[in-house]
Amino acid sequence: FKITAYAEELLDYSKLNWPERVHAMQKNWIGRSEGAEVVFTTEKGGHALPVFTTRPDTLWGATFMVMAPEHPLVDELTSPEQRAEVDAYVEQATRQTEIDRLSTEKEKTGVFTGAYAINPVNQERIPIWIADYVLMTYGTGAIMAVPCGDERDFEFAQKYNLPIPVVVAPPDWDGQPFEEAYAAPGIMHNSGPFSGMVTIGKYNLEDWTPELAAEYGLPADLTPQTEGRTAVTRWLEEQGIGKGAITYRLRDWLISRQRYWGCPIPMMNCPTCGIVPVPYEDLPVELPEDVEFMPTGESPLKFHEGFKKVTCPQCGAIAERETDTMDTFMCSSWYQYAYMDPHWKDGQTLSADDIPYNPDEGNYWLPVDQYTGGIEHATMHLLYTRFFTKAMRDMGVVNFDEPMNNLFNQGIILGEDREKMSKSRGNVIAPDDLVQEHGADTVRGYLMFGFRWDQGGPWDSHGILGVERFLEKVWDVVTNSPAGQGQPTAAQIRELKRKQHQAIRRVTKDIEDFTFNTMVAGLMEYTNALVDFRNKAGALVGTADWAEAIRTLVLLLAPGFPHLAEELWARIGQPYSVHQQSWPAWDEELAKEDVIEIAVQVNGKVRDKLELPADVDADTAKARAQALDGVTKYTAGKQVVKVIYVPGRLVNIVVR
Ligand SMILES: [Zn+2]
Repeated sequence: FKITAYAEELLDYSKLNWPERVHAMQKNWIGRSEGAEVVFTTEKGGHALPVFTTRPDTLWGATFMVMAPEHPLVDELTSPEQRAEVDAYVEQATRQTEIDRLSTEKEKTGVFTGAYAINPVNQERIPIWIADYVLMTYGTGAIMAVPCGDERDFEFAQKYNLPIPVVVAPPDWDGQPFEEAYAAPGIMHNSGPFSGMVTIGKYNLEDWTPELAAEYGLPADLTPQTEGRTAVTRWLEEQGIGKGAITYRLRDWLISRQRYWGCPIPMMNCPTCGIVPVPYEDLPVELPEDVEFMPTGESPLKFHEGFKKVTCPQCGAIAERETDTMDTFMCSSWYQYAYMDPHWKDGQTLSADDIPYNPDEGNYWLPVDQYTGGIEHATMHLLYTRFFTKAMRDMGVVNFDEPMNNLFNQGIILGEDREKMSKSRGNVIAPDDLVQEHGADTVRGYLMFGFRWDQGGPWDSHGILGVERFLEKVWDVVTNSPAGQGQPTAAQIRELKRKQHQAIRRVTKDIEDFTFNTMVAGLMEYTNALVDFRNKAGALVGTADWAEAIRTLVLLLAPGFPHLAEELWARIGQPYSVHQQSWPAWDEELAKEDVIEIAVQVNGKVRDKLELPADVDADTAKARAQALDGVTKYTAGKQVVKVIYVPGRLVNIVVR
């Protein structure tokens, strides 16, 4: 699957509201590097050896080339004297895994082929080696080696006595041979027309800040004309020996797996027609459920005759069904499209024009508004599903560019010892036991209340009791509030409404923000307020306003505490189900705090005024008054002797 065709577009996050660290991890995974492709030529045979380098500014320091042992030119280039050594080396390299070959732990080895290449920038003759750390699958299978600027090349050159001329050095270089490679920005040396120029190395000109320049002791005001790497790239193009190029670390996606558990690849192999797709009318191909798992080390599908034996739809011959299955990331790349409408065209014959869901459903639901998932998916699932969506867009299936607009990464709940839960540590908290003991709503409530959803944290077995007490209080205030005597005052009703509408506003916003901990805190405050009203303003209980306040509490509880809410909903005589009700709306006017304006005096003279909530306490009023600009200019440098608060009217600050 050619995910690399989308490498550049996958680096564009402008249409996504995803966590910054997911962007960063994907960018790193895609690994875009700017550089140049430069063509070296073999002395023998005149073969072109294109190499990609991120550091064209170091070309004059390329004193040897290294090819992958599998490179198709190795055989032809190898000299008779080197033949035996080269053959032996190629043989041992093929026996190693790619991972072993790329291991940074491993000592770098190589063999001289006896052949030379011409460095196009200075026509120097440089030896061609083979080494197993160069892979045929990366780039062109050949690299230029610049020992003064690359640690690996430096070690290799030291080991095999190859020259290490200095071509980029720090500004304070003393002219002595290097004792280690220098890869940072610096001054170019021994580099033909570019000697003496500043090069910023791996940085891009637009990222070259005065701070960076100062760090390396180099000038900050560089242009494409005066910066070495850019200037060399342009020069290569003018000379016709190279060109600016971009490479990506991202590889194409091999989707086949040699195992049973995966979606079958809908292909067959016909002895006459070759690879033939399974006809649309036979889709989907389903896994047989009666395979035998034998210790063969191979997929059991290979031994299932009924699955394997098919008739070629083109020529009628006996053909063999593909027994490799797909990487499971294939299915998770587009499951959001299938899950939306899972029975679309069930049992019907499919055609090439079909899409996986009812387009009307797609227009309504897609793309996904809010997705949640762990950060561990950053460079796999979350990258693959973006690729799939872009490919589906280009096939005309969807009309948007990204699969999910918003993404949140949830945190992880740790054990009480602050370590990740694991059986071996013995710190696993089993949800089933807790649900058994406290009930599902309590356990869920604590998970919401005890942690920031996106951060997680250590489990606290006492914390759950706080949520349990809260729910008991909810139960009590809803089911056990006897009506008081007399009529409530207008102020009491006003205050009840205010708390009710403030609670709706807060819970609604907290749910939208995924801040479930403060959502539960808001529900707790509202419940406490209702308990206070019942105890101190009992005349409210039994009124229509009280019933409305209680009804609101139960509605607000429903998303987080679904079982309790359903039960309470029935007990307050409301029709089934609480989960099918409209979400309550708040009224900003009703939610607004009553505000009073008070005068602020310094030594008895009014200097400023202040708006405060009507129920403000004296300490808050005094502190707010003393912080006013209109006040501090009269109190600065003086000693505050006394601050007097006359509730609802004024604050007087006495200074000396
Ligand atoms: Zn055939």
